Amino acid sequence: MTQVYNFSSGPAVLPRDVLLTVQAEMTDWHGSGMCVMEMSHRGKEFTQIIHEAEADFRKLLNIPANYKVLFLQGGAHFNFSMLPLNLATESSAVDYVDTGHWSRIAIKEARRYAKVNVVASNEDRNGTYVPDEASWKRSDNAAYLHYCSNETIGGVEFQHTPDSGDVPLVCDMSSNILSRPLDIARYGLIYAGAQKNIGPSGMTLAIIREDLLGKARAGTPTMMDYQVHAAADSLYNTPPTFAIYVAGLVFKWLLNNGGVGAMEARNIEKASLLYETIDNSNGFYNCPVERPFRSRMNVPFRLADEALDDAFLEGAQAHGLLQLKGHRSVGGMRASIYNAMPLEGVRALTEFMRDFARSK
Ligand SMILES: *Cc1c(COP(=O)(O)O)cnc(C)c1O
Repeated sequence: MTQVYNFSSGPAVLPRDVLLTVQAEMTDWHGSGMCVMEMSHRGKEFTQIIHEAEADFRKLLNIPANYKVLFLQGGAHFNFSMLPLNLATESSAVDYVDTGHWSRIAIKEARRYAKVNVVASNEDRNGTYVPDEASWKRSDNAAYLHYCSNETIGGVEFQHTPDSGDVPLVCDMSSNILSRPLDIARYGLIYAGAQKNIGPSGMTLAIIREDLLGKARAGTPTMMDYQVHAAADSLYNTPPTFAIYVAGLVFKWLLNNGGVGAMEARNIEKASLLYETIDNSNGFYNCPVERPFRSRMNVPFRLADEALDDAFLEGAQAHGLLQLKGHRSVGGMRASIYNAMPLEGVRALTEFMRDFARSK
């Protein structure tokens, strides 16, 4: 089989070593004679798998003891609804920063359940920056402040953690969790769908400060109450066992490769190489995102001559560079370069980009 590099935005590339382990353990996990898919979620084998996954995840992000880690279902989308149902009342003010597509979906959903105040929006400059924190128009007594740390489609990333004061800070970290070190104590709640930087789709991780548990409003569906999942150690109902197993292997891979600090250094190197290639192309390629806010995970770029888009994608495909087509809402290209994308993959992409530009 030829070497390919997969730039999908999600579900996305997984570390090759992890996939090889999955393959090796497929029919016989650690001498059990069973595939992980066949195990009871309450048996001793799976209990070990989920405990190790949680312990490794806690180690990676240095999660303090007063935070619960929850393995949930329903994707980031479920959390868009769970968040206001659990942390706000119908009359609560809830603050949201709007930095693009995913912020807006979260905002739209929260409007069904609470009084949303959009503190700032980057729509005025076409979603290409993070509005300066000093300009945010925050409510006096918000139940929480929500932001999306990395806009997967727009390619806009926060390079710092906002200061929310005493208000619980809530973050959708679906596309950049584990890509850099974090100070968890600054947050009330973090949630992330697994299919970008963690593992297979179908599993969502949440990190929640304990004092925020047990506050779901009356009428909240049982499955949408964070406290229910926390009290049951994420085994209230049958969890996505195979996804948890694979995520656990990804956590071990991260620990064996130097943890999130080493990942950050690698991610900076990969992103710099790609942005330099775009910026040094004499306008053949361009990235619309303002430089201080450019994402290390998702790099959207366009060809100045859109008529060449199809030829670019076909040529890339022929070179084993897959899934580079931009999101349907923005067009152009997007290279997602999550933790599992090796530097060689970005090198191969930038070489192809230079050759393609020269050939035109
Ligand atoms: C992919 C993504 C989502 C949606 O995730 P689902 O698991 O499909 O619900 C939400 N937010 C961000 C930042 C994403 O990248």
